[in-house]
Amino acid sequence: MSNSNIKKLVNERSLLLEELKTLSQMLHGSWVERYSVCSIKNCKCHKGERHGPRHYLVINENGKQRQKYIQNSQVESGQKGVSEYHKAMDLIDQITSINLKLIKERKYGHGE
Ligand SMILES: [Zn+2]
Repeated sequence: MSNSNIKKLVNERSLLLEELKTLSQMLHGSWVERYSVCSIKNCKCHKGERHGPRHYLVINENGKQRQKYIQNSQVESGQKGVSEYHKAMDLIDQITSINLKLIKERKYGHGE
């Protein structure tokens, strides 16, 4: 591979890293909605009209699945955060593929 092609790859990697930097709201998780029944006697929720939905983000914490409650006002932002995570994974895959090409050319390593 020519030096200019290697330079092109390194530039491309810099752009991907710049883009990665913009994904500050990323959230690694998936959504569940829950409907609940309250403790008020005669509340409509006891006759089938349950309260909700309440939104939870299912995340992995120290190897355990946990559901984190997300206030309704934050759900839309949270959904964007989850797609930022997927975007980040995609960028990381692209960076990996560039780095593999650089390894093949022996142009990979810290200080590049
Ligand atoms: Zn109720």
